[in-house]
Amino acid sequence: MAIARPVRALGLAAVIMWCFFLYQIFAPSAPIRRPGEVGWDEYDPNLEPTGEPEGILMHASNEYAPGIENSARINATLLALVRNEEVDGMVQAMRDLERTWNHKFNYPWTFFNDVPFSEEFKTKTQNETKAECKYELIPKEHWEMPSWINKDLYDESIKLLLDEKIQYADKISYHQMCRWNSGMFYKHPALADTQFYWRVEPNVHFFCDVDYDVFRYMQDNNKTYGFTINLYDAPQSIPTLWPETLKFLAEHPEYIHENNAMDWLTDSIRRPDHNKKANGYSTCHFWSNFEIADMRFWRSKAYDDYFNHLDRAGGFFYERWGDAPVHSIGLGLFEDSSRIHWFRDIGYQHVPFLNCPNSNKCKGCTAGKPFEGESFLQKEDCRPNWFKFVGMG
Ligand code: GDP
Ligand code: MN
Repeated sequence: MAIARPVRALGLAAVIMWCFFLYQIFAPSAPIRRPGEVGWDEYDPNLEPTGEPEGILMHASNEYAPGIENSARINATLLALVRNEEVDGMVQAMRDLERTWNHKFNYPWTFFNDVPFSEEFKTKTQNETKAECKYELIPKEHWEMPSWINKDLYDESIKLLLDEKIQYADKISYHQMCRWNSGMFYKHPALADTQFYWRVEPNVHFFCDVDYDVFRYMQDNNKTYGFTINLYDAPQSIPTLWPETLKFLAEHPEYIHENNAMDWLTDSIRRPDHNKKANGYSTCHFWSNFEIADMRFWRSKAYDDYFNHLDRAGGFFYERWGDAPVHSIGLGLFEDSSRIHWFRDIGYQHVPFLNCPNSNKCKGCTAGKPFEGESFLQKEDCRPNWFKFVGMG
């Protein structure tokens, strides 16, 4: 007995040390890494539990509700550019947003179209909300191809874009739509007295109950722009967008904000080939089919001069510049990046990409999954770059 006890103790110690040794070798050694640390690429903020932003418990029953005297209502509208034939998709998107958010706040909807809205469109959409709906026609001078675009050069350029398999390259209305969304919508007389908007497209989905006034959040927190999804663009659609931007900056260095997101715009590490084909731009952009934003930024001298420079350069037609990269570059250069907000709590989908928070307020999407369908889509998500260079706000 007297001998056995120390032997047994030694044996036990050996077993414990052996287990520890094995644990060191085989245990998964993946500490959670925060954005900004080495290895941030492995960190998935989408899987973090998501709540509403702290300190803004604003429920529909309180002073933020509409129709209440002295209400703290924000000067804002839900905004959609849409075609008559997309009415059913618009109704579906409205139904989602009204159910999850707007029935609590009743912000008005403003619909825009390059042709007059049909009675059917008006009736079906107004039936989806108790808020006011406005139906606006886009003035011709905001929509038509500008006079300085050379039609022959346009035709030739389209052929090249088609060779590059650029989607919608030969649809002139798509080019017009991108230009309107880049630099025209906020100039529409119907929005002259409106400050904030939430852009909504037909067929998009909203998954999560949002119980605070997002416009109020923007205003109280001094935010200019809110996004849900960041994606890489097709570089073949914007080969001269960044070179034109650099020309503009050479003329107007004073417009660059000291807290800009230049590193995010010019990253060449994650997808070097994209940066190369886009001549210096990472192509990472806020996916603009979702935007919650303050139009004072688009109306600022810096952005207005920038848009006019791009418009004169012709790339909305000779190439297929999208409003997403144009907005994103403008924001990344001329705005304080701390005023750009990731709405991680707004569950959103525009096929095939999603923002799906890990929250019991969400139904109908898989938390953290940024895409639907083929897994090669995973690499199109460039939110990690935003978190790396700017943070999560
Ligand atoms: P995608 O998201 O890039 O595939 O482009 P969409 O086809 O969804 O178009 C973007 C937005 O512009 C949607 O809200 C469309 O309804 C709208 N849109 C596109 N082209 C036109 C057009 O010629 N007229 C009108 N009124 N709306 C358009
Ligand atoms: Mn769309």
